[in-house]
Amino acid sequence: MPASYHQFEAVIVGAGGAGLMAALNLQGRDVAVLSKLHPVRSHTGAAQGGIGAALGNMEEDHWEWHMFDTVKGSDYLADQDAVEILAREAIETVLELEHRGLPFSRTPDGKIAQRPFGGHTREYGKAAVRRACYAADRTGHMILQTLYQQCIRNQVKFFNEYLVLELLVEGGRVAGVVALSVADGSLHVFHAKAVLFATGGCGRIYQITSNAHALTGDGMAVAWRAGVPLEDMEFFQFHPTGIYKMGILITEGARGEGGKLFNGRGERFMEKYAPTLLDLAPRDIISRAIYRELRQGHGIEGKWYVHLDLRHLGRAVIETKLPDITDFVRTYLGIDPVEAPIPVQPTAHYAMGGIPTDVWGRVVFDEKNKVLPGFYAAGECACVSVHGANRLGTNSLVDILVFGRRAGRDMARFVAENDFPPLPRQPEESALRWLSRLREGGNGGAARRVSVGELRDTLQGEMMDKASVFRDGKLLTEVGEKLQELKERYQEATIQDRGRVFNTDLVEAIELGFLLDVAHTVAVGALTRQESRGAHSREDFPQRDDKNWLKHSLAYRTPSGGIELKYKPVTITRFQPQERKY
Ligand SMILES: Cc1cc2nc3c(=O)[nH]c(=O)nc-3n(C[C@H](O)[C@H](O)[C@H](O)COP(=O)(O)OP(=O)(O)OC[C@H]3O[C@@H](n4cnc5c(N)ncnc54)[C@H](O)[C@@H]3O)c2cc1C
Repeated sequence: MPASYHQFEAVIVGAGGAGLMAALNLQGRDVAVLSKLHPVRSHTGAAQGGIGAALGNMEEDHWEWHMFDTVKGSDYLADQDAVEILAREAIETVLELEHRGLPFSRTPDGKIAQRPFGGHTREYGKAAVRRACYAADRTGHMILQTLYQQCIRNQVKFFNEYLVLELLVEGGRVAGVVALSVADGSLHVFHAKAVLFATGGCGRIYQITSNAHALTGDGMAVAWRAGVPLEDMEFFQFHPTGIYKMGILITEGARGEGGKLFNGRGERFMEKYAPTLLDLAPRDIISRAIYRELRQGHGIEGKWYVHLDLRHLGRAVIETKLPDITDFVRTYLGIDPVEAPIPVQPTAHYAMGGIPTDVWGRVVFDEKNKVLPGFYAAGECACVSVHGANRLGTNSLVDILVFGRRAGRDMARFVAENDFPPLPRQPEESALRWLSRLREGGNGGAARRVSVGELRDTLQGEMMDKASVFRDGKLLTEVGEKLQELKERYQEATIQDRGRVFNTDLVEAIELGFLLDVAHTVAVGALTRQESRGAHSREDFPQRDDKNWLKHSLAYRTPSGGIELKYKPVTITRFQPQERKY
């Protein structure tokens, strides 16, 4: 089947919070939004706990405090010019959401309600502050619905269930994308002046994760294959409270409302690890504390979980402020959190790294931040970098909206000032070859054919066992070698379903290729970084090493498909690196 051709001034890939916010800021231009899922199924809709902004509705608060907390939370790896924008623009962003119709939870006098979240403090670390704005524990759901409604109202053009496979680059400029329509298996070339990737995270590289099945790092891998490096991929956040064995998230808002963690000896173990903030310390610190307790045999009945106890909050608070997670716990565990503590373990949650950008969402591809004209990235797939080595809760929703909006605005300028670039010759050629190889199977013949599911299970198990909360050189070397082997076996991977209509077998095979590439950048970045910072904790290099490692990593693809690392400096403006105590 020949490919169909489309032309739009701007193409946005991804219809989560970042993509939709960008689309709304491109009003008046010719824009298409491509999404492999229906927009309201994007992972933004799963965000629970809140969006951080120093509104000061409940108590004194300032954007400078928010900025400080974010920089300290990042273990000083975040770029402070970008963090300043995040903290300042968070305030107008939340008010914009309110004006666009988002039903926030309210204080008795009608203001947007706010609750405490991990690592958010007043007066530069003195005590927890109420900064997270929320709509019960469905904040992301409300954001996504609100933005999608506004897009429909503004007649944004959507191509739903279009899976983007490749980025087109011609003459040093981005010229569009190639996508597969999942509904009928047809191939589409989108010719554009500018392309934004807003494709979300890659939590599915791990076995236990809070991330939806679709979070397979597609945009990151596609950009990387096109020659763009991935920044700081070794930093992957584990959220302390996933449901035991399943990884489904129990929001930090549960601890924000007063929930407490206990080990198998009935101890409030966070007293040992973060005496000031306790259960509201940042996520990297609590996840490590839980792992330490579990390794010492202090899990509940010696098993690999601890307890999150909400019972003292009472039924009214639990059911009105945390209704969704209450439902999850009742449905998936058969436990009522009003009456029993919840078994939790750390779960892979958030990629701090991603496609490097400047503060206008423009993708930059070298150590001097040179811009690749026409290419933009925003949201979890991007690295601007506001989260550095560890993200604070509620800061991703701010990030996707603040930088989604900036990217949209700058794209509007760019497409007004520039003509269409030429398309490469036969732009669909390599995607066609790739798809037919997956459909027909590899070169090795039937005897060597490999199942996609089996490769994915091995990948996720290896990453979980050897590259998660604690790491060391030996295990990371093993996982790197294993990934190399899996990438080779992937060349022989084959699928059962040869049909064209909704071929989910084919989609999963494509996604596995993305997962393997992204996981490889995580493993190699982690092996090379010989220090412990934020979420990256090396048992063989337990100290933070600012002298040698206060720098961002850039993982490039080598011509043979391997990884080469380069580095670029961190932007430091207001806050010099300090010891990180909570
Ligand atoms: C369970 C959970 C709870 C969370 N709670 C919070 C919270 O309370 N506060 C907070 O700040 N953060 C939270 N986060 C993190 C935050 O929700 C995400 O980081 C953020 O929503 C990501 O938004 P996004 O727009 O970048 O991507 P997403 O919302 O993930 O959207 C990605 C989009 O890209 C599309 N896409 C992907 N690949 C392709 C492809 N190949 N072709 C075409 N389209 C593609 C998808 O269809 C989708 O539309 C939570 C995350 C999870 C998993």
